[in-house]
Amino acid sequence: MDKNSVRITSLANAGLLVQYRDVTLMVDALQNETLYYAPLPERIFDEMLRGDGMFNKVDHVLYTHGHPDHFTAAMNCSWLARHSAASLTVPKHFAADYPDFCRNAVRKCDDVWWLDLPPGGQGQKSLGDGVSLTAFRTPHMGGKRFADAVHYCFRLDLGGTGVLITADCEYDRESYGRMAAAGPADAVFINPLFLHKDEGRAILSDILKPARAFVYHMPFDGADPNGYRRMMARDVERYRANLPPTVVLQEAMRQVTIP
Ligand SMILES: [Zn+2]
Ligand SMILES: [Zn+2]
Repeated sequence: MDKNSVRITSLANAGLLVQYRDVTLMVDALQNETLYYAPLPERIFDEMLRGDGMFNKVDHVLYTHGHPDHFTAAMNCSWLARHSAASLTVPKHFAADYPDFCRNAVRKCDDVWWLDLPPGGQGQKSLGDGVSLTAFRTPHMGGKRFADAVHYCFRLDLGGTGVLITADCEYDRESYGRMAAAGPADAVFINPLFLHKDEGRAILSDILKPARAFVYHMPFDGADPNGYRRMMARDVERYRANLPPTVVLQEAMRQVTIP
């Protein structure tokens, strides 16, 4: 692997570990939601708590939003009890909703970015070592049903590599227009519903135009009540001609290298 490449490990559901040179970032990793989505397997959580191998040093911890398939307060508290990080990026309402987690966060980390952007807002921050983070406040997928959800997408610039992490972003062309304006994407991480819907694929081809797409936020084999795995296998095949090279990440600890 080229030393300037970015290695991304899909942990479970929307949990990612992003490694660039000596910097490690963790996004939406610590969650154990079992309803419809893949909880972080216990053995991986134990490795993370112990700080084994690639989990030895996590520098920056990011949270897109507080839904239970992205954030479990108790697991994040346990992790913070044993580890510290150079920075945390946290939606501001977590402070009121998860006070124990936030007390730990402030105690273990000097640099907490309490995200408090207005709808449609964006903010940027250098994380040092050639890494910068742009946060975009966007609507959450699902229209009225999740109108109250405070949701962020992240763009990471790692050396010369741009990675867009879209979590549960609504099919909202304006939001994606702002993300595209921030720079070209070598990789975009999207959820299965985004790829399945015409609106999502149109955003990929008309607006984001990423070099590669990765479908994450996938259930594990044998625990897929909505049939997302079959649906993605079918969709990637069916729409191949109009998609960027696309890979579905649906096993724990699957690794990809970008570019
Ligand atoms: Zn969500
Ligand atoms: Zn989600």
